[in-house]
Amino acid sequence: MLRLSVGPYKTNSYVLLCGQTRSLAVDPGGDAATLLSAVAGTELAAILLTHGHSDHTRALVELHRATGAPIGVHPRDAHMLPIAPQWLFEDGEDLRLARCHLRIHHLPGHSPGSVAFEVLPDLWLVGDTLFPGGPGHTDSPDQFAQLIQTLWQRVFVLPPETRLFPGHGAPTTVGREAEPFHAFLQRGWAEDAYGDVRWDTRPGDLSNGKPSDSQTRVCADGVGHG
Ligand SMILES: [Zn+2]
Ligand SMILES: [Zn+2]
Repeated sequence: MLRLSVGPYKTNSYVLLCGQTRSLAVDPGGDAATLLSAVAGTELAAILLTHGHSDHTRALVELHRATGAPIGVHPRDAHMLPIAPQWLFEDGEDLRLARCHLRIHHLPGHSPGSVAFEVLPDLWLVGDTLFPGGPGHTDSPDQFAQLIQTLWQRVFVLPPETRLFPGHGAPTTVGREAEPFHAFLQRGWAEDAYGDVRWDTRPGDLSNGKPSDSQTRVCADGVGHG
């Protein structure tokens, strides 16, 4: 698997080589030429999106037009794309392609249609759902509560050695994130908390979604998100 940092928000685009002749692309966030050269010599079998934010789709149209590869996204984020997708994901759906075996998990919170791709056996591409040190950006207290529930029920039940590859920045593991996550849950958080939260944010530091020591781990996905 290749991790390519692309576009103005340093989005992680991933290319999976599934044997000699086929490949998959995840989140073409920019730099179409770089992505095309990464898949050169293979048949790009699909373009998969962890969610619909524009910082993950900047090279989508170009990559699709150049390769003809079908675009897959969760139906709840489909309206955000600059082009109509050919494939709408279902939670728990499997994709088998040569040596690649992926399972799709619907993880709402950062966006309604956020998904993770479990690359079996122990690697997850989690999009902007989780980063080292904190959850992805949310736009309301309800979204934040949903994201916490998603993480609690779907992510922090995985074996600690499970590797997590986020939509921006460096990879981490479930084990590394579990302790600060559970400490955060134990401390509790203000009812109106949302935005760019980190697990080490103290409850009193959160007000109207703006941590007072605002760290910039924003999913900068364009207009309309702070
Ligand atoms: Zn995002
Ligand atoms: Zn993002």
